[in-house]
Formats: sequence, C-alpha cells, structure tokens
Amino acid sequence: MPADADTPYDVVVLGGGSGGYACALRAAELGLRVALVEKGKLGGTCLHMGCIPTKALLHAAEVADSAREGSRFGVKTTFESVDMSGVHAYKDGVVARLYKGLQGLVGSWAIDVVEGAGRLVAPETVEVDGRRLTGRHVVLATGSYARTLPGLEIGGRIMTSDQALSLDHVPPRVVVLGGGVIGVEFASVFRSFGSEVTIVEALPRLVAAEDEAVSKQLERAFRKRAIAFRTGVGFESAAQAGDTVSVRLAGGDTLDADLLLVAVGRGPVTAGLGFEEAGVTVERGYVPTDERLRTNVDGVYAVGDIVPGLQLAHRGFAQGIFAAEDIAGLAPTPIDEQGIPRVTYCDPEIASVGLTEAQARRRHGDVETTEYNLGGNGKSQILQTQGFVKLVRAKGGPVVGVHMIGARMGEQAGEAQLIVNWDAFPGDVASLVHAHPTQNEALGEAHLALAGKPLHAHS
Ligand SMILES: Cc1cc2nc3c(=O)[nH]c(=O)nc-3n(C[C@H](O)[C@H](O)[C@H](O)COP(=O)(O)OP(=O)(O)OC[C@H]3O[C@@H](n4cnc5c(N)ncnc54)[C@H](O)[C@@H]3O)c2cc1C
Repeated sequence: MPADADTPYDVVVLGGGSGGYACALRAAELGLRVALVEKGKLGGTCLHMGCIPTKALLHAAEVADSAREGSRFGVKTTFESVDMSGVHAYKDGVVARLYKGLQGLVGSWAIDVVEGAGRLVAPETVEVDGRRLTGRHVVLATGSYARTLPGLEIGGRIMTSDQALSLDHVPPRVVVLGGGVIGVEFASVFRSFGSEVTIVEALPRLVAAEDEAVSKQLERAFRKRAIAFRTGVGFESAAQAGDTVSVRLAGGDTLDADLLLVAVGRGPVTAGLGFEEAGVTVERGYVPTDERLRTNVDGVYAVGDIVPGLQLAHRGFAQGIFAAEDIAGLAPTPIDEQGIPRVTYCDPEIASVGLTEAQARRRHGDVETTEYNLGGNGKSQILQTQGFVKLVRAKGGPVVGVHMIGARMGEQAGEAQLIVNWDAFPGDVASLVHAHPTQNEALGEAHLALAGKPLHAHS
C-alpha cells in the first residue's frame, strides 16, 4: 500500500479492460494519482477473450486456406489438417506476450493496481475485499459479457465465443446463431478449419449494421465459400442429445449440428455492482453518459462497453483517454461516435466508417454514391480477392461514409477514417497520390470516380 494511502486518489478506475486501462495510463501520464481495480486479467475481454485471440484464429484460418489454395498461384501445397493444440499454442502465445507487455506498461507508470472484485459503495468510493478506495473521480469500466436468448442455456455443445475460443477439436457441423460481427468471424474460422457451417440470423441480412451493398457482397462470398446462412428466420429452441444439438427454427425447420455457437450480442456488466445504489442511472443494464462521458452523478464517469453505443476496443481506448483528460481539466473534444471505424475480420474483410447509404439518405436527403470494384485494383487481383469500395457523400458535400469489403480491406480503415472525420470532399482525396500497386489505391480511385475523373473504371 502506498505511503499516502489515506489521501484520496484523483481517479479510481473500476475494470482494467480496454476502456479502464487506457484511462488509468492516460491519467497517470498526466500526473494524476490512480488506482485501477481488476478482478480478472488486465486487458479484459479484448486481450483475453475477444479481439486478439479471435484475430489469431482468423489468421490461422487464412493459413489453412492458403495451404488449400496454393495451386491457384502455381505453388504446390497440400492441406493436411488443423491441429487445434498447435493453433491454441500460437494464439495463447500472442495473448501471453501482449499481456506481459501490458503488465509491464502499467507497472512502468505510478498506477496502484488493485486485484479483486470492486463495488461502488458511494459515488466516490470503490470497495475491494473490504478495502475502500476513495477517488475525487471514479471511472466505471466493467465491460460486457456474452448474452444468450431466453431459454437457451449455455453448456455442453451450446457455447458462446468464450468457450469456442478454446475448443480442442474442429466440429464437423456448426450452427452459428447470429450473423453479426462475432457470428460471421467465427463462421469464417470454422469453415476454413473444415467445418460445415450454417448461420441463422433473425434480421433480413448478414452484418445488418453495415451498408446493404456490403451485406450482399458478403453473402455472395460466403455462398462461394459454402458457408450456409438462413436470414430473416427466428430461433425457437435447441436440444442436446448424444453427439448432436438440434436447433429448431421458427417455421419448423431443424438443423442438426455438433456445436451451436450463440453469438447474439453482448450485454453490459453492471448488475450487483452498487451503481444504482450509489445514484448512478442504469438503463436496460447500460450506463448512459453525456458527451463528456459523465454519468448523472458528479465525479463518476463511464467508459467502454457499458456505455450505450458501439462495443469496440478502440472506442474503449478513446473513451478512457477522453475521461482521463477531462478529469485532468484538458477539456478534450468529445468523441464523434459516427467517426469510429468498424472492421469485421471474416474472409472477406469488411471495413467501414461513417453513414451507410440508408442512414445518409435519412440525414441528408439527397446523396451521391459510387462503388469502385476491386476488379480494377491490381493488388486485389494479385490477392485474387473480390469486393469494392463504396463512398457515400451528401449531394455536393463531403464524404460521409466509406464502406469496403475484400481480403485485407480492414487495413484501409485508417485513411477512410481520416476522410470521413476531416469532412474531405472527393476532390480533396482525388488530388492525393496513392501508391501502386496497393489496395489503398482502390480508395483513391473511388474518390477519383466520385470527383468525376475516374481512372480504372468503365464509362
Ligand atoms: C469474440 C470477440 C471479438 C471481439 N473482437 C473485437 C475486435 O476485433 N475489435 C474490437 O474493437 N473489439 C472487439 N471486441 C469487443 C471488445 O473486446 C470490447 O469492445 C472491449 O473489450 C470493451 O472494453 P471494456 O474496457 O469496456 O470492457 P472489457 O474489456 O470487458 O473489460 C472490463 C474489465 O472489467 C473487469 N471487471 C468487471 N467487473 C469488475 C468488478 N466488479 N471489479 C473489478 N473488475 C471488474 C473485467 O474482469 C474486465 O477485465 C470483441 C469482443 C468479443 C467478445
């Protein structure tokens, strides 16, 4: 315990995931006295059960596909099998290295890391195992958990991403319940590993939060990959017997599988943590904040997945940094939620920033769009991938949405977010030179087209 243990901290952060640890690090950088309470492992969902392990699985999946497809490139390769213990050794090694790095990073700053489950016992006080930590400010960052549906109990062959991450075998038949980000990423991995996969989605299309054109292209690509999907169909029940889980759909169809992956979204971790008793408003489990991430209680902030909005690690980082700077009196500019890039790492990858065409029509009325096909992009042809870059602009105005799909297109999110967040006009981007041959050129070409001077595009 530090020598000045009786004086209050400047900031007590409850939860050491992306939002919480980013806040603690920035606050410490700014010279604030910080306590960071974590009941599990620093790094939270993203590092241990989310972004990093899933992307390692997706990379292993890509390697499996490359082994299968060598002959397309004139390279003689044979795909033998997927050794799940080897996959886990690789994945866990990546996580372990990053975890060690994060522990070292947090340790290098004067942050008191308090291990244990914390509870908000007063607006300025978090209690951990009987120890009271008082702060001039408290930042709530307790994250999220994998939801299920009423009556659908997790166990045995019915699992969420939490259990699916450490499966010791490749299940021959998988039903994925939910065609959102986590669902399509796991579907992609399972298919590349050799499973037969069927996605069941109640909404009319896969990745329904994306622009409709992106959903259509993904569905086309998944059909080619023999990933089956049933959209616009509700789930009714699931029953396990012997080696099989039978999934009954609304309308009466039944799908038999070896595994049912439930990927129906994530709920906030706020129950039983004393938030409401301390006066903090909780709505449907989430903690609403103003644009400065302040809750309704003076001195109490909330960041990350417990705050309604996009549940993404980089949003958590940005919110954590913002809260620390606000507490330090730096008056940071509020984060524009609409400008946060979104990447879905299935094959093909999806990356988007800003408004979909439908959202832009609702907001701006008249809009212009263009779709630049990756068929005209040299690097995409070298990679043998299909897809497009779609731009949406308010008529005569700046680009308000960029939507991309194709292998590796997630890497293009960087320029896309500069374009949308800096209110670039098509002509501004068209005047920038994009390196050849890169997939990044496709972004440049889409802007050339929207600026009325297309290069590799048919008239
Ligand atoms: C399968 C999967 C894949 C994902 N992929 C991506 C991706 O590719 N990119 C992306 O941006 N996002 C991805 N996400 C989402 C991302 O993981 C979350 O948005 C992010 O982790 C949210 O950060 P957070 O700090 O709000 O919460 P969390 O990371 O959940 O951290 C909360 C922390 O608080 C701790 N905690 C909770 N209650 C208490 C308590 N009472 N006392 C002490 N500690 C407590 C928890 O142990 C946890 O460590 C993925 C999520 C999943 C599940």
